[in-house]
Amino acid sequence: MTWMMISTGVRAEVLQDPVRTPASPPPVAPRDPLAPAAFIKLPIGAVTPKGWLSTQLELQRDGFIGRLDELSRFIRLDSGWLQPDSEGWEEAPYWLKGYVDTACVLKDPDMMAEARRWIDACLDSQQEDGYFGPRSLKRGRDWWSHMVVLYVFRSFHETTGDERIIPAMLRFFRFLEQRPEEDLIPYKWGEGPYRKEWWQSVRSGDLMQSLYWTYNRTGEAWLLDLARRVHERSADWVGGIPTWHGVNICQGFREPAVFFQQSKDAAHLQATYRNYATVWGEYGQVPGGMFGADENCRKGFTGPRQAAETCSMVEFMNSCQEIIKIDGLSVWGDRCEDVAFNSLPASMTADLRGLHYLTAPNLVQLDRHNKAPGIENGGEMLSFNPWSYRCCQHNAGQGWPYFAEHLWMMTPEGGLAFVLFAPCEVTARVGEGAMSGGGAVATVLVETEYPFDENVSLRVRLSKPATFPLLLRKPDWCDRPGVAVNGAEMTPSATKGGFLRIEREWRDGDVVRVGFPMEVPVRRWDAHGGCVSVHRGPLTYSLRIEEEWRAYAGTPRWPAYEVFPKTPWNYGLMLDADTPASSITVVRRTGLLPRQPFVPDGSPVILEAKARRIPEWTLDRRGLITEVQPSPAKVAPGEPETVTLVPMGGARLRISAFPTVTTDSAGHVWKAPPPSRHTASFESPYDDIAAVSDGRVPTNSNDHDVPRFTFWDHKGTTEWITYDFEAIRRVSATRVYWFDDEPKGGGCRVPAAWELQYKKGDDWLPVELTGGSTYTVEKDRFCDVTFTDVETPALRLLIRLQPGFSAGVLEWEIAGDRIPAPK
Ligand SMILES: [Zn+2]
Repeated sequence: MTWMMISTGVRAEVLQDPVRTPASPPPVAPRDPLAPAAFIKLPIGAVTPKGWLSTQLELQRDGFIGRLDELSRFIRLDSGWLQPDSEGWEEAPYWLKGYVDTACVLKDPDMMAEARRWIDACLDSQQEDGYFGPRSLKRGRDWWSHMVVLYVFRSFHETTGDERIIPAMLRFFRFLEQRPEEDLIPYKWGEGPYRKEWWQSVRSGDLMQSLYWTYNRTGEAWLLDLARRVHERSADWVGGIPTWHGVNICQGFREPAVFFQQSKDAAHLQATYRNYATVWGEYGQVPGGMFGADENCRKGFTGPRQAAETCSMVEFMNSCQEIIKIDGLSVWGDRCEDVAFNSLPASMTADLRGLHYLTAPNLVQLDRHNKAPGIENGGEMLSFNPWSYRCCQHNAGQGWPYFAEHLWMMTPEGGLAFVLFAPCEVTARVGEGAMSGGGAVATVLVETEYPFDENVSLRVRLSKPATFPLLLRKPDWCDRPGVAVNGAEMTPSATKGGFLRIEREWRDGDVVRVGFPMEVPVRRWDAHGGCVSVHRGPLTYSLRIEEEWRAYAGTPRWPAYEVFPKTPWNYGLMLDADTPASSITVVRRTGLLPRQPFVPDGSPVILEAKARRIPEWTLDRRGLITEVQPSPAKVAPGEPETVTLVPMGGARLRISAFPTVTTDSAGHVWKAPPPSRHTASFESPYDDIAAVSDGRVPTNSNDHDVPRFTFWDHKGTTEWITYDFEAIRRVSATRVYWFDDEPKGGGCRVPAAWELQYKKGDDWLPVELTGGSTYTVEKDRFCDVTFTDVETPALRLLIRLQPGFSAGVLEWEIAGDRIPAPK
């Protein structure tokens, strides 16, 4: 056997504890005619996080999530969720979703009191017809935020058994049930050209889950009729991907799998699998478990510098936890851990007192300034700021408590399944009759430093001997796990979902030791020129970059930080071509795992690799890392350096997708970003001036898949943009493709008029048009002009915008010759 026994001594004080009886309501299995569950959620409180996981929850309690009332204007006395005549939308429900579950998991009395205050207000606001919450949402037919509150209600009930919750949920569902069909889940929001898909239609799988949760507890069949109507009114996740918004995808892709519980049609499960494959197949070919949607997925923006929103991470983790209960496939546990261990910790400061909006596998500078259009969203997105990033700031809190609640689940026959791995203790009824309050009471203490260590020890306490299956997820990265029960090695049988199954008569004091040998594979990403990532077990490793933190805003108690690299980051790895993993050295350090291991030096295992710098790999002019180019990149001969790799989740600055390098002449010659050839009277912060001549020709004037340059939000003004040549050129023709987003309701139109000028000395002079050429402003094609040839270092477009509108250029081409400088 290649794994090592855990050496921690028996913790006598724990073993001598009397077996505790769970205080919260029992777990509830799906009720006929819903499909049986693979796994059944334990009530909150059954799993107590320990070790590094309890640290995350404690830090979150004391950090921006627990103290958001000091930071957010949406969590005040006049919130519409406390005062229904005030305004209110998703923010307070988002925050409660994380806050209430943190309170429940930590069993924190002060937080529970605060949770109860909000839940009481929601319940007290319920009207005759069953509606609750801000009245403005009722007028607007917007039920999206209620879907979030229903999660909060469920958690509160699972923890406290509060008898007001289920009747209140039933009354709200009656309210929905009595809506005319067009008001049930309205699909489009807004009027005219600004109409767009409404959150509630692309996220209605969340509502269906609450309907099934309630049905399983009450058996009222009309809830299933309503769930079917909601499914039919939902955006179509069965037919394809109805929205390319990152958070919508992370929630919505599972909607068909949720409905499968009712339809029992395997095509619905397959639709969710296909949705995952479609999105991750194109935009998720990167380490860290997420996909590039730095608001939306964009064609051509798929590499490791594209980022994921913090909301997307926690919603995707939640989706994995929901799907695995339905289909029992271990891969959802792998995917959930991938995001939880590698991406989520990096989205926040290590003390959980700040967060950012976007996190990418390759991210080497977190300044506050605009990075668009390299990432889609303009403005502050990357710096750590507890005051900002409205949706993520409120929504991020669900990540760790939901993870903790789902570490262990029940199997329908009264077994226990260890689904997500972390140090913890679980208490549940097991064996025959467990689901109906019988069986034996089991407590399993899990001692481990996983994911930083490969050994897991399970100590079983039992009120009486009991026969039940113990299931352990077999991670996909682990080929040969080792299992020993009371010191005797064994080979458990495998389930078809990918779990190890040990079924026996368990006795008080039994000990199961499990080893998941962690290899160090190198993964190659062909979609991005063969760049590579390095892994150890569930952890992705990233380049260790020295960080310089600079406070720039906020208050002394809640500062906002930019983070800059103090050491070089533009490394490619030198790997053996045939056995790349043989080039990575594993370095084990001694000492205890720190309380917060998601810091650069927190891991007991670091990796070392030989690397060479690629001088041409730089930041772009907005301070965003430029994209990886094909591997291997050619570097000059010389001594390689040794670089340190640390877990990605602890690396707030990181390279996780590395090019490889070679001194061979066949290597790729890395190109530095070209110097800017343009200046303009004004540059929109959302656009890139380099788009003007990037060679990407649009298919029409409203083509959003090619980069553009606009003067937004200047309207009706006269603007200019230059085309600066490297040397004097003789030119006699040019053509411009105008941007115009009228059908999508945007604010840009073709200009009212334009003319071409050339530079002579310090002056700009108009060209003389020839051959009947005129300055046309047509859409969906290049507008050409020819003119008497000029020899000049630069051309300039003088553009008069239409009154009330802005304008933009998709592509500007020059015809002519370069004139060599005189010798
Ligand atoms: Zn967000």
